[in-house]
Amino acid sequence: MDEKVRKEILNAYEFRKQWPPYTYREYFDVTPELLNDFTDFLKTENTSKKKKELQPWVTFCDSRCSFCYYPSTMFRGEFVDPYLAALKKELKMYSETKYVKTSEFDEIVLGGGTPTVLSAEQLIDIISFCEKNFNISSDYMIKITGSTHNLDEYKLKKFAEYGVLQLDVGVQTFNDDIRRKLFIQDSGEHAEQIIREARELGLYVCIDLMYNLPGQTMEIWRDDIKKAIELDLEGVDCYPLEVYPGTILEKQLKNGELPPPGDWKTEALMYVEAVEMFTKAGYIPVGHDRFTRVREHIEESCLNGWPWAGILTTGAGCFMGYLGRYSYQNTENVREYLEKVSHGIFPIAKIYKSSDEDMIKKVMERLYLRLPVDKKEFREKFGKLPEEVFPEAIKRLKEKGLIEVDDDAIRITKLGDIWRINIAWEFANAKAVY
Ligand code: SF4
Repeated sequence: MDEKVRKEILNAYEFRKQWPPYTYREYFDVTPELLNDFTDFLKTENTSKKKKELQPWVTFCDSRCSFCYYPSTMFRGEFVDPYLAALKKELKMYSETKYVKTSEFDEIVLGGGTPTVLSAEQLIDIISFCEKNFNISSDYMIKITGSTHNLDEYKLKKFAEYGVLQLDVGVQTFNDDIRRKLFIQDSGEHAEQIIREARELGLYVCIDLMYNLPGQTMEIWRDDIKKAIELDLEGVDCYPLEVYPGTILEKQLKNGELPPPGDWKTEALMYVEAVEMFTKAGYIPVGHDRFTRVREHIEESCLNGWPWAGILTTGAGCFMGYLGRYSYQNTENVREYLEKVSHGIFPIAKIYKSSDEDMIKKVMERLYLRLPVDKKEFREKFGKLPEEVFPEAIKRLKEKGLIEVDDDAIRITKLGDIWRINIAWEFANAKAVY
């Protein structure tokens, strides 16, 4: 890379942030008042008319990757039946509310944890329960999150026969040395074989790849991207490594068992490499971290409708729920989850109710999602243009070459794409004049 380009990329900020604003990390512990407020909200009609995602969560996993900070519970056979019964009960509780009855869902996404730790029949049973109890669009998509180490030909065939559109698989890297160090259960070759089988059966496959892993050189990262392109995947989500407190990885790094990951500059340049290689291969950057080559990802209503669409998530540990102004995370503890649901209580552990100002800032977060901020729509909602609400932030970002502003919309530039999370934080921390 040309030194001038490298400097331009790295000079925009002094540090590349890893996580955008308005995530579960900022939610408050639930109180009886907040829970009442939320349940009162569920008694109202949904007037936004944006289609939503329905996301039942299978909390179990049969492994512990060293970097993993997702709330999951070690798989134990005796927990499964009570958990699935509670999951259905929680789904039913939501489905009977006015807000959900007046909402339409065009995606059923089994998240987790690792849903594929369960049998194909158990997963299809959850999907079919959702289909029967919610207003599902005629052109809806079914997606299942999983791991290649617990997927096999039988499960893949059952998913394909049922009409599952996509498997979201956490590959992270195909490099066996790094996979072993991160305690990923199977080999890169096995992951590749499962992906090929799934694609032969007509399933879309979208994988997670991580960059800036300990011991991962730029060459290894390029090999991972090359492999993803060679596999002709429908989508690839590229995440930078985040060393989360309390993970095994944090201990491995402290004890010197693993070399430290690169600094933020290395991380940013690895991202730039991904952008270049994927776009050259015909992929388009969309949403949080995805490179895609399919229409379904580009047109996804839940993504394009941010922040007015919604994700109805259920299950122990689920953390990506947002309905109206409420964002929520469920309790991680399975016993507590079962107990709450058995008493007909929404098992929410943390919740956040967005203020008017938060909603304005969330609209600007569309830039982080690689979406335009439509100025006409913004004025219709808030009575002012974005430049009037955030004069300084917009001026600064424009001068830095991170955003483009024309008469119709605000968009991120190619340089801004590298700094999307910092841009989102600029608006979250700015004073909104409205
Ligand atoms: S397979 Fe997924 S949920 Fe399970 S430990 Fe690894 S990253 Fe975490």
